[in-house]
Amino acid sequence: MKLSDNAEKIMKLLEENGFQAYAVGGCVRDYLLGKASADIDIASSAVPKEAEAVLQNHGITVVETGIRHGTVTAVIGSEQYEITTFRKDGDYADNRRPESVDFVTDIKEDLSRRDFTVNAMAYSRKDGILDLFGGKQDIENRIIRAVGNPDLRFKEDALRIMRALRFASVLGFKIEEDTEKAIFDNRNLLKNIAGERIFAELTKLLTGDNVLQVLDAYREVIGVIIPELKPAFSCAQNNPWHIYTVYGHIIHAVAAAPKDKIIRLAMLLHDIGKPSVKTTDEQGIDHFRTHACAGSELAKNVLRRFKVSNEVYDKITTLIYYHQAVENVDEIKVKRWLARIGADYTKALFQVRTADLLAHNPEKIGYEVKRLKELQDELDEILAAGCAFKISDLAVNGNDLLELGFKQGKEIGERLNTVLQLVVEDMLENDKNKIIAYLTK
Ligand code: ATP
Ligand code: MG
Repeated sequence: MKLSDNAEKIMKLLEENGFQAYAVGGCVRDYLLGKASADIDIASSAVPKEAEAVLQNHGITVVETGIRHGTVTAVIGSEQYEITTFRKDGDYADNRRPESVDFVTDIKEDLSRRDFTVNAMAYSRKDGILDLFGGKQDIENRIIRAVGNPDLRFKEDALRIMRALRFASVLGFKIEEDTEKAIFDNRNLLKNIAGERIFAELTKLLTGDNVLQVLDAYREVIGVIIPELKPAFSCAQNNPWHIYTVYGHIIHAVAAAPKDKIIRLAMLLHDIGKPSVKTTDEQGIDHFRTHACAGSELAKNVLRRFKVSNEVYDKITTLIYYHQAVENVDEIKVKRWLARIGADYTKALFQVRTADLLAHNPEKIGYEVKRLKELQDELDEILAAGCAFKISDLAVNGNDLLELGFKQGKEIGERLNTVLQLVVEDMLENDKNKIIAYLTK
C-alpha cells in the first residue's frame, strides 16, 4: 500500500522514535477499493504529547485538536493528518500508557472497537495490511458487516445504524444479514442520538450512488429519524401524474437530483406535507393542494431537530415552500423568481422541480423537463448579462432619489421597489436617465 509521502514521513518518524504507527480506517478501505481517500488517519502507541514532541522536533506543525480523545493533528502544507492514540472500546485514553506496550493487543483493541469490517483494517510500513476481521474479503464481496456482535455494537452506539446505511449508499455495498437484522431490531435507539450526528451521516447517505435502494429497503430506519415521513409510506397518489406512493415518489426524486446535499435533502422533505392535505374527488382522483406550505412547516421541525445551520434551514424550507409554485412551467418568469428569492435559490428551485418531475409518470413529463432546461439556460444568460433583479442592481440608488426630492426612508424604498418591479417585468429599461424620467414625469 502506498500512502502520501507526508503520511509515510509521519509514520516513519513515529516508528524511529520507538512508537507504533498505523494508517487506519477509511484510507485503507479506500485504497483497497482503488479510490483516493479524503483523509489519512493514523493510530499510534504514542500519546498526544509524545506524538507532538516527535513531530515538532522535525519541524512539523502540530495542533492539539482533541487531546481528550487522544488526537493531535499534524499540518504539512495544505494537508492535515490526525494522529490518535490506540483506543480501547469507549476508553478515550489520555493517560500515559504503561512502559511496555503489547502493540498487537493495542492495535487489535483499536481495530475491534471500529464499526464495520471494511473500516477496521490497518496498514503499517513494517507489516503491510493488517486485516483481523475479514475486511478485505467483505470489500471483494461488497458487504457491510459489523465487527463483532452486531446487536451489541448497535446498542453501544446507535449512530452506527446510520453509518451502515451511509456506507451501503455511498459504496453500493449490501448490508450483511445479521447486521441488517440488528439494524432493524435496534433502530429505535437512534432516538437517543444527537440530531447533528445523525444529520452528518444522513447527508452523506443522500449523496450516495445507491441512495434509492437504501431509502427504499431501510425506510423503517428513516421513519425513526424523520417520523414525519411515515404517513408517506402508504400514501397512494391516484392521479395521472403519479406512478408511486408519496414515499416512492420522494425517493425517486432524491435519486434524480444532482448530488448536492441541500438539493437532495430538499427532495427528501419536499412532499412531506402531502398526506396531511390529501383529498379525493368524486372521480376518485387524489389532490394535494397546499402541500408545499404544509410541507415547509413540517420540514422546519425536522431541520430543527437536526440542528442545521440557519443557512441550510432557510434554503431547504424556502425550496419546499415554493416547489409547488413552479409546477406550471409556462407561467414561470425567470426574472420574477430572481427578484423574489435571488439567484442561488432560483437555480436550486429549478433543480428541485426538475428532480421532482423526473419522479413523476414518465409519459407526462417530457415537455416540462425540456422547458425547465430552457429556463435554466435563460437564468444563466440573465446572470451573465448582469440584468437587474435586486435593488442594488438598479442604475439609480437612494441618494439619486434624495437629490430628486423624494423623502428619505419609506418613500424612497417604495419608489425603488416600484422601479425594480418595472425593470424586472421589462417595462422599464435599467438606465439612469430613463428611470429618472419615469420618476419625475
Ligand atoms: P470517510 O471517507 O467518509 O471519512 P471514514 O471511514 O474515514 O469515511 P469517519 O467517519 O471519518 O469515516 O471515521 C473514521 C474511522 O473511525 C472509520 O473508518 C471507523 O473505523 C471509525 N469510526 C468512526 N465512527 C465510528 C463509530 N461510531 N463507531 C465505531 N467506529 C467508528
Ligand atoms: Mg474519515
